[in-house]
Amino acid sequence: MDIILLGPPGAGKGTQAQRLVATRGMIQLSTGDMLREAVAKGTPTGLKAKAVMEAGELVSDAIVSALIGERLDSCVGHGAIFDGFPRTKHQAEALEILLGERDRTLDHVIELVVDEEALVVRITGRFTCANCGASYHDKFHLPKVEGTCDVCGHHEFKRRPDDNEQTVRTRMAEYRAKTAPILPYYEEKGLVRRVDGMGSVEEVAAAIDAILDG
Ligand code: AMP
Repeated sequence: MDIILLGPPGAGKGTQAQRLVATRGMIQLSTGDMLREAVAKGTPTGLKAKAVMEAGELVSDAIVSALIGERLDSCVGHGAIFDGFPRTKHQAEALEILLGERDRTLDHVIELVVDEEALVVRITGRFTCANCGASYHDKFHLPKVEGTCDVCGHHEFKRRPDDNEQTVRTRMAEYRAKTAPILPYYEEKGLVRRVDGMGSVEEVAAAIDAILDG
């Protein structure tokens, strides 16, 4: 089963994708994660993407579509979760071709419906353990012992450079202008399912499970 998780930054796509990986053996294809890895490694793609990502704008369709194509080849026999891709109509069309070439079809496009102002608070407060990646939040989920990761005991944490308020507002505007307009494309195909993304992680997970098992 191949699905897209669609929703603005901070809607919970990554969290829900990680859970589906753990519970269903699906593979998460996050273009944001792939690009951050490329930036960290200083690859040619990373060098091109770095400033664009820091500004909260969209990296070119050609770059992200190529990244997805490469990773899809390692998904044989597993369902794929597209997280943060496609983000434009061009990318949606590219995905259809990439899937068709591999005899795969899209089963669901799950839109996480959320309140934008709440997202700004969610995103600007989030941070992760620099060692194991466990997620925390300044307001909603601090480590039990200040400065120590609950999971691995590490003492260093990190924040994404694009999780500041100004960049978040640009990322939201990009979503509204370029990504939300791909919903009608998938609606015409009868693939869109909506989930209330403002519930708890468990509530959202249950709603997604009901769609996948329905
Ligand atoms: P994300 O982790 O999905 O929030 O993505 C972080 C940043 O990576 C975005 O703000 C964009 O700059 C870039 N990015 C990730 N996925 C895409 C995509 N599908 N198309 C264009 N840019 C992307």
